[in-house]
Amino acid sequence: MEIRYEKTLNPKQKPSWDDALGFGKYYTDHMFMMDWAQDKGWHDARIVPYGPITMDPAAMVLHYAQETFEGLKAYKTRDGKVLLFRPEMNARRLINSNKRLCMAEVPEEIFVEAVEKLVAFDEDWIPTAPGTSLYIRPFVFATEAAVGVHPSTSYRFMIVLSPVGAYYPEGVNPVKIYVEDEYVRATKGGTGFAKCGGNYAASIAAQVKAQKLGYTQVLWLDGVHRKYVEEVGTMNAMFYINGKVVTAPCDGTVLPGVTRDSVIQLLRSWNIPVEERYLSIDELMEAAQSNTLQEAFGTGTAAVISPIGELCYKGEVVTINDFKTGALTQRIYDTLTAIQCGEDEDPFNWTYEVAKAN
Ligand SMILES: *Cc1c(COP(=O)(O)O)cnc(C)c1O
Repeated sequence: MEIRYEKTLNPKQKPSWDDALGFGKYYTDHMFMMDWAQDKGWHDARIVPYGPITMDPAAMVLHYAQETFEGLKAYKTRDGKVLLFRPEMNARRLINSNKRLCMAEVPEEIFVEAVEKLVAFDEDWIPTAPGTSLYIRPFVFATEAAVGVHPSTSYRFMIVLSPVGAYYPEGVNPVKIYVEDEYVRATKGGTGFAKCGGNYAASIAAQVKAQKLGYTQVLWLDGVHRKYVEEVGTMNAMFYINGKVVTAPCDGTVLPGVTRDSVIQLLRSWNIPVEERYLSIDELMEAAQSNTLQEAFGTGTAAVISPIGELCYKGEVVTINDFKTGALTQRIYDTLTAIQCGEDEDPFNWTYEVAKAN
């Protein structure tokens, strides 16, 4: 792919590389853009100074929400290499999301190359303190100016980068989760498996409700019976019950997380059984009460692993593992983050080394 480069004339002042980085607060000096038109396909790949973009007020994304996105991270190793974690998985998931929303698909090679070239160009924005990384946000949206529902005839693919701090500055700590039994996130035949902004727009009401009640996130139940446990906010959910890890199957309503897939492979390599199956909220609450629920955690790129210390369902509150991070949860977190930032062996060949910019 040919990329046009336009270097910024006004590099920004970088924030200090510590925990105050937070998440998604700062953006780097450049961004990637590429356009799609029916007659030209993907064209005009460019890396340009980061800044506002102009759009027609009738751009279809603003009215009918044809928008999909991805999230992954780049890490700087101790010896100065730059690593991505399984970027081809994000590329393939974006293709599946775009298919569902009838949007132009970004070919896998173009996706990976665009991420790699932008990260290499803004390499000096990758923080190096423990737990920090460069968050990569690729996204695609409909740009055709037309008020009328149909697949857009033009799209833009963009990538922005944000240096982020350790998600939990004080280390991995359990969170309190509210089991949502009124609002639903996804149903079969819907867009639950697609990473699209619309899913999140529809989820905010439940998050606001949970936060008002003192909970960090919601645990979604299936949309038909409000009975089976699906996932947590921006994470897949895993429950360590009686020596086995149980997680919802990816059969249309759950987002197929890259972290989820990686954790399943790790667990199986440690001979810990993993069951991808329907788990009812009643079975889960009973397991918590009888202490057969040993640990629970969420998996996702942003926090990597997030222990769940408390669940509230219909006013009933259960504490998991005395609200402490469990040994298995900690082991998964330590192993995965060590592979991601190049501190440890990579037996699964998950990391992808970014070629330096010349
Ligand atoms: C992105 C996302 C996840 C986690 O996926 P990862 O690839 O592990 O980051 C889980 N659930 C939802 C709803 C998501 O949007």
